[in-house]
Amino acid sequence: MIVEVAFGLPVDKTFKYILPSSFSSKKITPGVRVRAPFRSGVKIGYVVDVLKEGNREGLKEISEVLDSRPVINSDILQLTWWMAIHYYSAWGECIEASIPGLVRKGRKTVKPHKEISIKPDINFKKPRRLTPAQERAFKTIREKFNAFNVFLLFGVTASGKTEIYLRAVELALDRGKSALVLVPEIALSPQTVSRFKNRFRNIGISVLHSGLTEAQRFQEWNKIKDGESRICIGTRSAVFAPFVNLGVIIIDEEHEVSYKQDERPRYHARDLAIIRGKIFNCPVILGSATPSLESYYKAKKGEYILLELPHRIKRKKLPDVKIIDLRSEKRRGLKPLVFSQPLKVEIQSLLDRKAQAMLFLNRRGFSTSLVCLKCGYVIKCPRCEISLTYHSRAKRLICHHCNYKTEKISICPQCQSRYLIYRGFGTQKVVSELHRLFPGITTARLDSDVLRKRGVLEKIIQEFRDHKIDILVGTQIIAKGHDFPNVDLVGVILADLSLNIIDFRAGERTFSLLTQVAGRSGRGRRGGRVIIQTYNPEHYTIQTSLKQDYPSFYSQEIERRKILELPPFSQLIKLELRHKDQNKAEQKAYRIKELLGGVANRDFEILGPAPHPVPRLRGEYRWDLIIKSKNLASTLRLLYNIIGFRIRFEGVKLIVDVDPYED
Ligand code: ADP
Ligand code: ZN
Ligand code: ZN
Repeated sequence: MIVEVAFGLPVDKTFKYILPSSFSSKKITPGVRVRAPFRSGVKIGYVVDVLKEGNREGLKEISEVLDSRPVINSDILQLTWWMAIHYYSAWGECIEASIPGLVRKGRKTVKPHKEISIKPDINFKKPRRLTPAQERAFKTIREKFNAFNVFLLFGVTASGKTEIYLRAVELALDRGKSALVLVPEIALSPQTVSRFKNRFRNIGISVLHSGLTEAQRFQEWNKIKDGESRICIGTRSAVFAPFVNLGVIIIDEEHEVSYKQDERPRYHARDLAIIRGKIFNCPVILGSATPSLESYYKAKKGEYILLELPHRIKRKKLPDVKIIDLRSEKRRGLKPLVFSQPLKVEIQSLLDRKAQAMLFLNRRGFSTSLVCLKCGYVIKCPRCEISLTYHSRAKRLICHHCNYKTEKISICPQCQSRYLIYRGFGTQKVVSELHRLFPGITTARLDSDVLRKRGVLEKIIQEFRDHKIDILVGTQIIAKGHDFPNVDLVGVILADLSLNIIDFRAGERTFSLLTQVAGRSGRGRRGGRVIIQTYNPEHYTIQTSLKQDYPSFYSQEIERRKILELPPFSQLIKLELRHKDQNKAEQKAYRIKELLGGVANRDFEILGPAPHPVPRLRGEYRWDLIIKSKNLASTLRLLYNIIGFRIRFEGVKLIVDVDPYED
């Protein structure tokens, strides 16, 4: 017999081997691991096909068959195959992304390990009856539960979405099936886990997240595979949980950026979950208070089934939100204005009464933008409608999206004032300002830098809960967490910082963050305050988020996307070229553009090349090309035919990112 093997390497090929007769007693099927000679050594690979006949000439023999049962079932194999094509990755890499590290390393068993204990939330009672809106939503789900359907559960914060998830899971379990629940970040939603544990006490629940050790992860994965766990709650990679009899997939906070993996293979867990639902023929429920534009658009078109929970449970009120117009703040020199006078006063009084606060800065400001202090105008690219970045060496304003360049501007094009300033500071700056203004204060910072270290997040959250920290400063990461009882002030340092950045999703993200902030404190016992600092108090994103009016935000945002032909009206592919030599990276970007530019009948458009928003990373210069496609499958095929599948292009590192997200 001849077997076809995929390896976890960035090569777009599978390799054929002869299966020696000594192994033929074992039933070798796709999904089984083997060891096979590869290059100068022996490597673990995954059987993806078994051929009865074929040309055996020049083929090497398999050295070892590791499994008698496949470790990857056929549905997951199919999913990874789709994933490889869609995300411009190798099949073997995608297969490896779908299994725990120890399985990749060839391990077969694991010693029993201590389970992570998240206790059931015993105060979380099953409500006697659903609200009329919940009832309507659940009825629709129940009626269409037997086949693949995507539901978008659009419910404002605290409208009882979790209860719908629980009922849907119950429905799947009643039918003898299993349930997969994806959440953006476990450490910030232990509440979700404890609610599930309380509701399903006699059902095995596996929790998968980045904080597990390799052995724990392997153990949980085995439990799911063996049917011991019938519910899996997990982050991004849990989309591959090896259930054989999946009854429902739920994606909570479907709009969250953390579902997108930012290294190879660069997949989006929500989008994969939908494909998985299609392959398994099982329903998929997306939930959010602020859906992604893509999902809401599809729901509006009828591709997804829209379910709405328009009111909060018990009709709780919105919190007291105050907007501070930073344009009217007095400034000293050209120092960036971090705290307005009213916010300083609030913080002081908070410290006096020994309460706690959370301060958000929705981005780590790597890119400065040029803003008019008098009228709030942000200098933007006329072609892309995104803010221009000032390059001090070139003394020019450059669009990081399409490379539009213009001379340095010193007079505001809108109001002719000369008060133009460069802006751009991040969470670290906020912390240092806090210590300067309020000596003796205790603070902690939570952003993606901090999150990289295992356990730090949990530690900070615990310390904050124990009031060892007065003020927690963070990016949108901390907006996701549940309530801290002693927090009665939430400040948004610069609501519009993310409106001016190069990411076309800036408005969407800002809306979502502000809504989450406002939504959170309204649940509070003491009824907290929210202070939003902004240079754009009239901006539709800020205005609509104050009232938590998503439909109004959506209708304005979707118009803009339509005019600019941005997703959901197109799909983007980002090609990033990296090299120590600035010229090489730039040249190769132009070279690729040239190669693609000669194609007739194009259903895509090329933007750039332009320097990456972070133009230099670990000593390498980065140049971007953005392809805006109206037919992704055909554009990807074309890209593949023209430049091939590679991680280097003529000696320069090449990164292909489909449906990219800036972070
Ligand atoms: P969301 O997930 O939409 O933010 P939750 O599911 O957390 O909202 O619901 C908010 C609160 O309302 C929770 O404390 C939950 O127990 C409660 N709740 C949900 N559904 C009902 C209901 N039908 N009757 C009474 N309380 C409910
Ligand atoms: Zn531009
Ligand atoms: Zn102006």
